[in-house]
Amino acid sequence: MKVIKNASQMQRIAFKHLLDGDEIGLVPTMGALHAGHISLIEKSVKNDDVTIVSIFINPVQFGPNEDYLKYPRPIKNDLQICKKNYVDYVFMPTVNDMFPSDHKTFVEVKTLQDIMCGVFRPTHFRGVATVVSKLFNISYADRAYFGMKDFQQLKIIEKMVKDLNFRTKIVPCPIVREKSGLALSSRNSYLSSQEKNFAISISKTLKEASIEFKNKPFNIVNKNALNKLKKIPNSKIDYIEIVNLNDLSPTSKNAKKAALAVAVWVGKTRLIDNIVMTK
Ligand code: AMP
Repeated sequence: MKVIKNASQMQRIAFKHLLDGDEIGLVPTMGALHAGHISLIEKSVKNDDVTIVSIFINPVQFGPNEDYLKYPRPIKNDLQICKKNYVDYVFMPTVNDMFPSDHKTFVEVKTLQDIMCGVFRPTHFRGVATVVSKLFNISYADRAYFGMKDFQQLKIIEKMVKDLNFRTKIVPCPIVREKSGLALSSRNSYLSSQEKNFAISISKTLKEASIEFKNKPFNIVNKNALNKLKKIPNSKIDYIEIVNLNDLSPTSKNAKKAALAVAVWVGKTRLIDNIVMTK
């Protein structure tokens, strides 16, 4: 496994693999790797000739009062995980390499970037779409792996790829959860053990909602779930929405499938989760 810290060097290496006819898989991450990330890596290692894992805490996707500085950076452990899972290249660029002070170009996916999490994090998805575009250009990825945990992010990247004719195929990967149901997240490390117990109610609520969805109108499902989330101690709900699986628009009354997506603060930690519901 090679660790590459420079974007041009990574691009040269990736281009050589492309010329050699290798299929390249990219797993974009912000590090603090857990079993959720590993599930993406495993898929790439299985599907692709070459697997590149990027570890880059992208300042452009954090708002001014968000957790950029305190975001966990257990780099030694991350590299061990990558090595153990047969990653070929870990791409770990510096902020200055990716976003030098004269950087001027940004990618926006209108409408999709402004709803749900975008209401509360207005510049977040512009930062995500921009860094992912750069990573696609640097890696020449044939496939890139994204978790359904970040459902809105996945939809935004899928739309960006379609609108801008990127060659990279997006591979959505299911959410990996703890036994308790809590969706794995690098931010779970911020939770005290008591807060973690409170946070378990989020996934429990989503699961119960998906059962109710089978025979109850979606607005009742949404209302019941909202009432359950409101009971979580020391919490604040940013949003709870039932949306169309393809374009995140409000679901229609007769939809046979929809996603229930939530963002909830537990103490000082903002957690997102979602579930795909079918009739
Ligand atoms: P992050 O490091 O949080 O930016 O996440 C990098 C990638 O891992 C994104 O595509 C996430 O959706 C994905 N991911 C994060 N947590 C999980 C999880 N619990 N299950 C599956 N994928 C995940």
